[in-house]
Amino acid sequence: MKVYSCCGHETVVKRHYCPTCGSDQIEQREVSNDGTIYSYTTIHVPPVEFEHLAPYSVVLVQLEGTSAKVTGRTTEQVAIGDAVRFLELKDGAYLYTK
Ligand SMILES: [Zn+2]
Repeated sequence: MKVYSCCGHETVVKRHYCPTCGSDQIEQREVSNDGTIYSYTTIHVPPVEFEHLAPYSVVLVQLEGTSAKVTGRTTEQVAIGDAVRFLELKDGAYLYTK
C-alpha cells in the first residue's frame, strides 16, 4: 500500500495539502502490505449495514517500514502484536487477514 508524507509525518490518507505546512509537495511511497496489530476492538453488535459481517474486529495496524498506522477490519480473531497482511480495499475499508 501507499503512504503519503510531508514534515516527517506519514499517513495512508491521501491529501492534496500537508496539514502542517500547507505544501502541496506531498511525497508518496510504496510500503509493505505487512503490519502488526497495535490495538483492536471486537464488534459483536454492529451497525445494521455491517450486521452480516459480525463478529468482526476493527483493528489499528502498525504498518511495516513506516510510522503510519491504518484502521482496518478483519473477521478473524486477533490479538495485539499479531502479524497481519493487507488484503484489499473494499467499500472504503482496509481488510486484513492473518
Ligand atoms: Zn508539510
